[in-house]
Amino acid sequence: MLGFSYLQRELPVELKELGALASDLRWTWSHESDALWRTVDQLAWEKTDNPYEVLQNLTENRLKKLAADSQFLAHLQHLTTQRQDYLAQTGWFRENFGSQKISGVAYFSMEFGLGKALPLYAGGLGILAGDYLKASSDLGVPVTGVGLLYQEGYFRQVLDANGWQQEAYPYNDPSFLPVFPVRSATGEWLKIDVALPGRAVRCRVWQAQVGRVSLYLLDTNDPLNSPLDRGITGKLYGGGEEMRLVQEIVLGVGGWRTISALGLPIDICHLNEGHAAFVTIERARQLMQLHAIAFREALWMSRPGNLFTTHTPVPAGFDTYFPDLVQRYGSVYAEQIGISLQELAGLGRLDPDDQDAPFSMAFLAARTCGAINGVSRLHGKISRQIFQNLFPQWPQAEVPVSHITNGVHVPTWDSPWADAVWTKACGKKRWQDCSETMTAAMERLSDEELWRFDAFERQDLINYARDRLVYQCAQRGDAPKILAVAAKVLDPQALTLGFARRFASYKRPNLLLQDPERLIRIMTHPERPVQLLIAGKAHPRDDTGKHFIQQWAEFVQRPEVRHRAIFLEDYDIALAQELVQGVDLWINTPRRPWEACGTSGMKVLANGGLNLSTLDGWWDEAFDPEIGWALGDRMEHGPEQDATNAEQLYELLENEIVPMFYRRDASGIPRKWVARMRKSLANLAPQFSANRMVRDYVEKLYLPAVGRYRQRNAHGQATGKTLNAWENTLRLHWQEIRWRRRNIKQSQTGDIIEVEICLGRLPQNGVQVQLYADGVGGAGPVCLTMRPVESTTQSADFLRYACHIDKSRQANDYTARIIPYSPDISLPIELNLISWETGTK
Ligand SMILES: *Cc1c(COP(=O)(O)O)cnc(C)c1O
Repeated sequence: MLGFSYLQRELPVELKELGALASDLRWTWSHESDALWRTVDQLAWEKTDNPYEVLQNLTENRLKKLAADSQFLAHLQHLTTQRQDYLAQTGWFRENFGSQKISGVAYFSMEFGLGKALPLYAGGLGILAGDYLKASSDLGVPVTGVGLLYQEGYFRQVLDANGWQQEAYPYNDPSFLPVFPVRSATGEWLKIDVALPGRAVRCRVWQAQVGRVSLYLLDTNDPLNSPLDRGITGKLYGGGEEMRLVQEIVLGVGGWRTISALGLPIDICHLNEGHAAFVTIERARQLMQLHAIAFREALWMSRPGNLFTTHTPVPAGFDTYFPDLVQRYGSVYAEQIGISLQELAGLGRLDPDDQDAPFSMAFLAARTCGAINGVSRLHGKISRQIFQNLFPQWPQAEVPVSHITNGVHVPTWDSPWADAVWTKACGKKRWQDCSETMTAAMERLSDEELWRFDAFERQDLINYARDRLVYQCAQRGDAPKILAVAAKVLDPQALTLGFARRFASYKRPNLLLQDPERLIRIMTHPERPVQLLIAGKAHPRDDTGKHFIQQWAEFVQRPEVRHRAIFLEDYDIALAQELVQGVDLWINTPRRPWEACGTSGMKVLANGGLNLSTLDGWWDEAFDPEIGWALGDRMEHGPEQDATNAEQLYELLENEIVPMFYRRDASGIPRKWVARMRKSLANLAPQFSANRMVRDYVEKLYLPAVGRYRQRNAHGQATGKTLNAWENTLRLHWQEIRWRRRNIKQSQTGDIIEVEICLGRLPQNGVQVQLYADGVGGAGPVCLTMRPVESTTQSADFLRYACHIDKSRQANDYTARIIPYSPDISLPIELNLISWETGTK
């Protein structure tokens, strides 16, 4: 359905497959096709990274030449066969689970960062989503992406003569993007209606191909929409709060309607951040219609099939909306699903009855999904604190947020040199297969081999940085003399540091600049020179971030370091790829715990780069003193710690890192440095790959979720009705629970704890009585089931429950509690009721 026929021009028949190759974003990670596109049109390829555009710009003459070039045709044939083999392979998922275990996963995200050619991202969240789709394609996991096609994507950055960031918003002309209108069987373009106050907005549906994965993208730029509505998908995170809400409605509601219109068999809706949470409402609405049931009943049936990945480490990071906006846009949906606006709005409020409370997309997601996860171990813990309020009285350890640490799609980020080294050590299919064997294989590589490949990568980066710097200077109108200097900056032998990120305050992008004189001393040491490449964009409305950039722009002009400190403008995927491939050390300085995970540091791993980072996000779990370097003390601090952290940063560089890099043996190899490289390659690269991440999602979240979802839907609408009725009964009578006495009977093997409870009108088989003890020494909490015992209590409406405890814990460690009980439901995420013997926990 895709490919050649969608190109705007006809290709000679010999080049037909070129159209197919250009239409598959697999070229964003397949190094082998780079050479082909370079042959086709070097300049266009290097400027755009977009084969689709390359093809459309070719002259007829050039096309004819290529069609007659037998060497070129052989190369094309080779790549075509390779791609067909890739598409046809069984893949990890089917090999391990067959094709029945999961029918489909719809992955919703506001951003997708797949490559420079499709700039629908602003930062880490989008890059992660892009890497997710690519790894799913490699592993053969049946994932479908759903997102928005923005007319203006990621802004482009230039610095003016004062080092002040200027933004440009080039128009994403869909006819030059590797996306295609989705057409129905009868040929017309698929359009999806989404209800907004007083009107329906028409969304056009596009498709991008990411290897074996399809990505559906919606845009509202349809001539039949009002001018205002045509701009809904104008800008990623553009406009105000209202625009954001409307974009989220289009993504969630429109996204799920697209899935249904296409008839895709989806069991799992995966929400990459809370932005897409409205999808859960639309999904429930469709189930209501199908089964003629009420909204809450439909929610019981759909919830296990919805997953929510949170990426936010501070509550202020969640999208929230004021009640008036919710009222304006929610009414039509409340009506559609037959509940009051208050009830709908309550799904997003901390206290559903508080009409003044803001509406949080994260709370909506938490209430309508069957599982929540954070994106690193530390972020899981932080998220349990953040979401604690939704589960009042539940111990923090039981707040239902797990974690799966992010990873990066290695073939996207590795250098051709790294690719060759990995291929030699572990074979071509390594990122698709098991990672355990890779560790052993990498450990067998010789020091010489590793050091050599590192040097090649550094040289490539330096060539690239010089070209780019010359271009930057020329754009600013610098004199030829300056351009000639720019062409010779940097030293292929020198220790190369990389520092590139969004210039958000929490990332402390100026920490390295706390003492510029000291940084200059480190960089200009006569025997041990250090060079530094910096890149990053500030949010267009963030003047603080722009000031940080300006500080760097001034620093790199200082005569002492002008030839070895370079600010590269316009940080994006393409620049990030070059940087992470060539640097020796990647520096990251966020303020803990603000970096939920962070992925840029993972991108250097497979390329042999080392990390120096705050113990935050992924580094908090990856750090090992024999592999990399750490800043901070695993505690959370405010800005008052910045000076201490900066001091630590300089000291590490001066006393450990720089000397280690320059301590060479007789054959010129820094053995200790290379030993770290090897450990980092062997131990960290596989672990922090998107492969491991996607496999974790499949095994830990998708498979259990599909099981629960299918079971709940196996008997039609009956289960939804039963569970909803059960919930209503429990909510109605929960306050009737009374606790009375606790007896402890001693025995040889431990104590027996007894409690007396009155359940009021609660059904006895609808609850469970437990003994709970907090975990000690890092272990999880202990939870024992109490059983009813046949013995008379003082009054007839009290029941007696008992449980034997062994001697590992004291009777006093335990508190009895009552929680809901129904087979196969997840607590407390599906129902947060709880009653403690002592009143509170
Ligand atoms: C990887 C990447 C990011 C995310 O990096 P973090 O360290 O997670 O902030 C942002 N932007 C670009 C262009 C990237 O390649």
